[in-house]
Amino acid sequence: MSYTALYRKFRPVSFDDVKGQDHIVTTLRNQIKSDRIGHAYLFCGTRGTGKTTVAKILARSVNCETPVNGSPCGECPTCQAIKSGAALNIIEIDAASNNGVDNVREIIDEVAYSPTMGRYKVYIIDEVHMLSKGAFNALLKTLEEPPEYVIFILATTEPNALPVTILSRCQRYDFHRITIETIQGRLRTVCDEEGLSVDDKALRYIAKMGDGSMRDALSLLDQCIAFHIGETLTYDHALDVLGAVDTSVFDRLINAVYDHDVVASLNLLQDVVEQGRELSQFNNDLIWYVRSIMLASTDTGLDEIIDINTDDMAALKATAARIDSETVMRYIRELSELTSQLRYSPQKRILLEVTLIRMCKPGEFTAAPSLTADPAAAAGGSVDMSSAPGAPAPAATAASAVDSAEFRVLFDGLKARISMLEEKLASGSFSVKEDTPIKEAPRPEALPEDVEYVNNHWKEFMDSLPVNLSIYISEARRGITQDGRLELTWLAVNGLNTNFDRASDPTNRDIIDETLSELTGKHVDVVYTLAHDKRDLEEHHFDISQLITVEIETEDETATGYV
Ligand SMILES: [Zn+2]
Repeated sequence: MSYTALYRKFRPVSFDDVKGQDHIVTTLRNQIKSDRIGHAYLFCGTRGTGKTTVAKILARSVNCETPVNGSPCGECPTCQAIKSGAALNIIEIDAASNNGVDNVREIIDEVAYSPTMGRYKVYIIDEVHMLSKGAFNALLKTLEEPPEYVIFILATTEPNALPVTILSRCQRYDFHRITIETIQGRLRTVCDEEGLSVDDKALRYIAKMGDGSMRDALSLLDQCIAFHIGETLTYDHALDVLGAVDTSVFDRLINAVYDHDVVASLNLLQDVVEQGRELSQFNNDLIWYVRSIMLASTDTGLDEIIDINTDDMAALKATAARIDSETVMRYIRELSELTSQLRYSPQKRILLEVTLIRMCKPGEFTAAPSLTADPAAAAGGSVDMSSAPGAPAPAATAASAVDSAEFRVLFDGLKARISMLEEKLASGSFSVKEDTPIKEAPRPEALPEDVEYVNNHWKEFMDSLPVNLSIYISEARRGITQDGRLELTWLAVNGLNTNFDRASDPTNRDIIDETLSELTGKHVDVVYTLAHDKRDLEEHHFDISQLITVEIETEDETATGYV
């Protein structure tokens, strides 16, 4: 017999089994019991919180002839027909793959026919935010006045991306992320029913890794069990299988820093860079590690400590015993300050290096203003030369010291950073200086063929995107890079722009690429850029929407011109 994944096997079939969403379950139950069922529901919440599961139970309940406490009875002819797949009155649509106007038209055409059996036709549209703008408009009319026998259940992870016109027509239910305790409890039930032997601590770790999603947690449990069939699943097993972070590098790094060993610290960072790790993430993980040291040293909140195996825990505790709490706090402060700087800096490594050196040498590397002067003078003035042979320290050997070129790069990076900050500060809360007028970016001489085509068909492109994406992109400026690729530029506010983050995440990039290649018949490169201020945007990113061309038909020729 083939294996059924746990999350399928244990998918709730009645409201009683739905965990962690009591506020929603109670309301829906009451509606069914009092026969006051709505015609359009919107289920919002992050993945794996039970939106589709609850939608399916609701769909069966409203059709059940003898519901039990609001849940489907499972016995009546309609319940039986639905179970066997014979009933046609629950229609599930995944908007992620059926997002066009035609898909919605199909639904609307079908809505006209009353259900062959049972009371209601229920349409469950999953990932509804992926529908295109045109599809939403088509759906709207039906949502406004659905026939008596039709119920729409729209599910989405991104309610903010839905048009207000849709939101205002639905009863909205927000699904909560499920707590670790609730997930752990459910996992325990599943293990007991399956006769699996699993440690509580392992279950808690798996529940935690599920990150609020019951489905993810069950899938992770599946993975762990598959690796350790027939044995008791322990915490260390779960860590192994689920690839807990190897914390030994953090431990070595913090110890090196505590020993004021600049060279060892920078060498460890070098290893990290060579492993190709993303440095912002590395910094975040390091902060968590230092936080765990703090918790371990206070001996409270040990449950909150990052999940590490028994050996690494011993190392963590030894480090915690070694370093005083004031120093730990200082490390956390230094590293946290770095977090926001790292986010969009192209010089991540330099910033991390500077921070590590500062952590190694408290009090010796604090006179930041002098760094804006000549780097050599600054080095002589404020850095302990015994470990920095970049300046006159001929006795130091290459093996025991930071090499001078590296030090030079480090100072240059820091200088650039400081002068950028000074410029921003001088311009008053990071806005544009008033005394030097903003120049307009140079107008490109001609657009490459692809870019020109996309530019001229922009509306068509935007209309075929999922509506959430078209919202993110509508905020961006359309331009071209120096090497002639299509560039979308968002304006950062305090270094951030969430629409830029969303549009440029890998999944959305794929959707954008696909939509563009459907439009143009070939691959079009897109560059996603964040302009750090208004000046940067205006001076470096020419707005090519000014260059839309129209074809002007004349009697004997077709001319093109700018409008
Ligand atoms: Zn029934």
